[in-house]
Amino acid sequence: MAFESLSERLQKALRNLTGKGKISEADINEASREIRLALLEADVNFKVVKDFIKTIKKEALGKEVQESLNPGQQIIKIVDQELTKMMGEESVTLNKAPHIPTIIMMVGLQGTGKTTTVGKLANYLKKNENARPLLIAGDIYRPAAIDQLKQIGADLEVPVYSEDNQDVPEIVKHGLAEADKNKNDYVIIDTAGRLEIDEQLMDELKRITEVAHPENTLLVVDAMTGQAATKVAEGFNQDLDLTGVILTKLDGDTRGGAALSVRAVTGLPILFTGQGEKLTALEPFHPDRMASRILG
Ligand code: GDP
Repeated sequence: MAFESLSERLQKALRNLTGKGKISEADINEASREIRLALLEADVNFKVVKDFIKTIKKEALGKEVQESLNPGQQIIKIVDQELTKMMGEESVTLNKAPHIPTIIMMVGLQGTGKTTTVGKLANYLKKNENARPLLIAGDIYRPAAIDQLKQIGADLEVPVYSEDNQDVPEIVKHGLAEADKNKNDYVIIDTAGRLEIDEQLMDELKRITEVAHPENTLLVVDAMTGQAATKVAEGFNQDLDLTGVILTKLDGDTRGGAALSVRAVTGLPILFTGQGEKLTALEPFHPDRMASRILG
């Protein structure tokens, strides 16, 4: 289960506080130490953890908590609120274009699940908004990616625009014309990934942006990479105006460092999470629900 180990450790750290009529400063220090270790072990960014602990301690020592009937429960509530804040507080949805189509450009490193997520998002929009998306195959360097996207399109009964052409911005331009012709309400553009960020890739992505003017530029990152995901997000965000992040492979992530660090470090909201290989395994991200799930 996602965040299993983080969840267990945090719950253990807080367990000693519950049921106590009064909580001493020593109790709070002890719990804070445990929470700090749990978050660091979950691979949450160091500075984020430091700020988090500072807030928790300050609030827990406050008069309101100390004088309440069940201070332990109050502290758990504070941890819950602060975890929610760390992940962005409000859930964020896709930006909509004033006229159809709304354009979504998906970017990310190779193997993070970008192509699969294009399909998942198409399926999500179809199911939830009755949408008629068009997918554009813009990852021309990995030949299997085009076939993979075509297969996904066939499975979902969603059209895929592809072209035998080495000029990706050109392909995108033609794809957008196709979407206009067919009155598709969403266009989702799959783009190339690399093992690392490089100038050539960024240059191509920038050129696609200039052609497509996407309302949404979403970075797909692998949750299993922990806080390294924040570095990737910072790198992509330097050259592209990212509007948000989709966190994939949350189903295999027992630690949670990426989910807890991305927003706090980069300011980018997490819009969706991928929780499995199936095309239905995409969930909108709700910071409050995630925090409650972590705290059990
Ligand atoms: P791309 O190179 O970024 O386009 O990556 P792909 O879409 O080809 O995905 C790489 C692998 O990750 C595939 O085996 C996918 O099935 C898998 N994958 C994608 N998203 C998820 C997810 O949310 N959970 C799990 N467990 N696997 C995923």
